[in-house]
Amino acid sequence: MGLLDQQLGQGGIIISKLEDLINWARLSSMWPMGFGTACCAIEFMSAQSTPYDLDRFGVIPRASPRQSDVMIVAGTVTFKMADRVRRLYEQMAEPRYVISMGSCSNCGGPYWEHGYHVVKGVDRIIPVDVYVPGCPPRPEALIGGLIKLQDKIRSESIVAPKAVEKLLAESEG
Ligand code: SF4
Repeated sequence: MGLLDQQLGQGGIIISKLEDLINWARLSSMWPMGFGTACCAIEFMSAQSTPYDLDRFGVIPRASPRQSDVMIVAGTVTFKMADRVRRLYEQMAEPRYVISMGSCSNCGGPYWEHGYHVVKGVDRIIPVDVYVPGCPPRPEALIGGLIKLQDKIRSESIVAPKAVEKLLAESEG
């Protein structure tokens, strides 16, 4: 039995900042929207399979933007899809996050030079928090991206959440 167990067993208490507690709850229950735009989505689906076990991070895909706080843009974003992607993003409640998964979503990928139909980076239509490189990235790489996002959430302030920080940056810029 560890020291913490002993202390709790004797009626001990844990002291923490409210901010740390809220951030811990948020980073331990990231719910991505379950959708993909091209072949990277196959690796996104693989990451949800038993060997990778995303549930252990509290990552549980949802079928609705209303229930999601993370958008994983997995695959090519065509100009036809761009409006839908942005609309889905806007339907997610704040605070919301975006992981760009794969070269297509990061910068246009193989379509970078001649793909007249492809948006050259999803960050041209919505803000991106974490970029995961690869064509396609393996599930381990996506898990690495999710851990990076957890680190980002861990250091966020609940007093000045992301939306407020963005407004402040815009007013200063
Ligand atoms: Fe497909 Fe590669 Fe583009 Fe992913 S980055 S959507 S695997 S072409």
